[in-house]
Amino acid sequence: MLHAPFTRRLAAASAALALALTGGAAASPAVADPRAVEKTHTAVGTGGAVSTVDPEASAAALEVLRKGGNAVDAAVAAAATLGVTEPYSAGIGGGGYFVYYDAATESVHTIDGRETAPAGADFQTFMNPATGKPYLFGELVTSGVSVGVPGTPATWERALENWGTLSLGEALRPAIKVADRGFVVDETFRKQTDDNRARFANFTSTSELFLPGGALPTVGSIFKNHDLAETYRLLARQGTEDGFYAGPLAEEIAATVQAPPTVPTPTLPVPAGTMTTADLAGYEALDQDPTHVEYRGYDVYGMAPSSSGGTTVGEALNILETFDLAGMAPADALHHYLQSSGLAFADRGKYVGDPAFVGVPTKALTDPVFGKERACLINPDTAAQTPFAPGDVASYDGVCPAAPAALADEQDTENLSTTNLTVADQWGNVVEYTLTIEQTGGSGIVVPGRGFILNNELTDFTTTSFDTADPNRIEPGKRPRSSMSPTILLNEDGTPFLALGSPGGSTIITTVLQTIVNRVDLGMTTPAALAAPRASNRNFANSIGRAFVTAEPGFIDEFGDDLAPYEYLLVKSGDAFTSAAEIGAETAIEFLPDGRMLAAAEPVRRGGGSALVLTPSP
Ligand code: GLU
Repeated sequence: MLHAPFTRRLAAASAALALALTGGAAASPAVADPRAVEKTHTAVGTGGAVSTVDPEASAAALEVLRKGGNAVDAAVAAAATLGVTEPYSAGIGGGGYFVYYDAATESVHTIDGRETAPAGADFQTFMNPATGKPYLFGELVTSGVSVGVPGTPATWERALENWGTLSLGEALRPAIKVADRGFVVDETFRKQTDDNRARFANFTSTSELFLPGGALPTVGSIFKNHDLAETYRLLARQGTEDGFYAGPLAEEIAATVQAPPTVPTPTLPVPAGTMTTADLAGYEALDQDPTHVEYRGYDVYGMAPSSSGGTTVGEALNILETFDLAGMAPADALHHYLQSSGLAFADRGKYVGDPAFVGVPTKALTDPVFGKERACLINPDTAAQTPFAPGDVASYDGVCPAAPAALADEQDTENLSTTNLTVADQWGNVVEYTLTIEQTGGSGIVVPGRGFILNNELTDFTTTSFDTADPNRIEPGKRPRSSMSPTILLNEDGTPFLALGSPGGSTIITTVLQTIVNRVDLGMTTPAALAAPRASNRNFANSIGRAFVTAEPGFIDEFGDDLAPYEYLLVKSGDAFTSAAEIGAETAIEFLPDGRMLAAAEPVRRGGGSALVLTPSP
């Protein structure tokens, strides 16, 4: 245990008193009950801070902090609550990456809680026996084949064991309360249910839970999930090893994957998966070293492979470090941001996969000398018209080489599933945690009577080819490559400066990168950096090989003309009036020089998030 309980109680008591004296009001509900619906997007103060996409989850974390729990306790409480209120984005049926800054040792630690492919999952499982060809991506999305062994329960337990002060049962308590008493349905929840309606209707279990009587939940109604409360109680009593990864629940998960509970006449093929109880019993959340790069005097820590987040954000920052972005016109700085990201994505595609299966050159990818050499390929006047080729990690010296031939990265699908949360406590510990069930609505398959959806994370493997040179090809027991990028920046003296993360598939990487550039180089405040319109260069090419950049409509409106001389092909990320137009939905905490914390949540995208501090200050 890092902190003496007595000191903690005292500090918590004085924080509670301060809260009472300042009134607390909107920024700081005293308890997670009654229902939290207020969304404050920015909050400044002391004593602890939290930012999530959801007011119930933020209130749950704040309650834990108020009672003297630390950032890890509060992060697990918030994540479990998100499993209730954001069941289509995250939950115990999925996986994620947990990044922790320990104030006592000024060091950053991570847990890889990514899902794994079952032992029976190899390239054959992605082949449709009826056609002899790979399943179409859409066929895999709603299937047992794409369900990975969940990592989230093990991650919560491991995080609490490593650094927490609460038991799993104590940390689950606020979420159980929210699941039992229900939360208020908002527009986003209804919309996400509607978007998934046709898929969910294929499963008896899923329709019973999320489409009772075939109807969508109405905005303003109360949504309860007693099944999930009961499942959380089981985990609280037995722990995850006996309660989730073994025993009746494990048997039910395996049975659900092997024989999805479809209605008599499903409209989708729903291929069955192979997951067994042995796969569940063998799951392990991994303690892992973070990635590290230096950027403008900050130490930037991220998630190492199996996520590509840390290496790709890190490499792009190393590239950008060689340019004076702050001294450039905004369009010029954005041009460099976009090109650095294209370069880093080329290397991501060639080199990053699960390090337990492929030799990932993490050191080279995050080496400033490699970044310096890659920076040579940025033409200051023109965007690359074709995708960048990957660099050579086996031989680099920071000297500009002759231009190599281009090679397109595989295009990933991305969406707005996944969720992210940021928590800091009164001792200065910080958690940045991104978790997901992959697609919004995951596989669409609820484990009957258990209240949660299984992920479809295995669609993050390459699904169309099985080239042995591909680091992200499917193999038994392997973790699919992720883009999740929970990131913590420290000041030179080892204290935290900024923690941030986002949902959004492979746009997560560019969202985190752009926000760092906005904050560090372009002088924006953290809330402004989160709100600013986004563009994402993932080294993609269109059907005739022309490189293109995906951009929010607001970005095209604001910067389209200024970027025209660079010859970008800016492709709208979606219709201006749909959520597909949005890139990311971040949460962040900045640690201000005067000791206060600035919690910031996405103000608009996905309905906006909820930022709270324990003791608000003017
Ligand atoms: N499965 C994605 C990843 O791990 C995240 C899902 C999303 O945000 O769309 O990179």
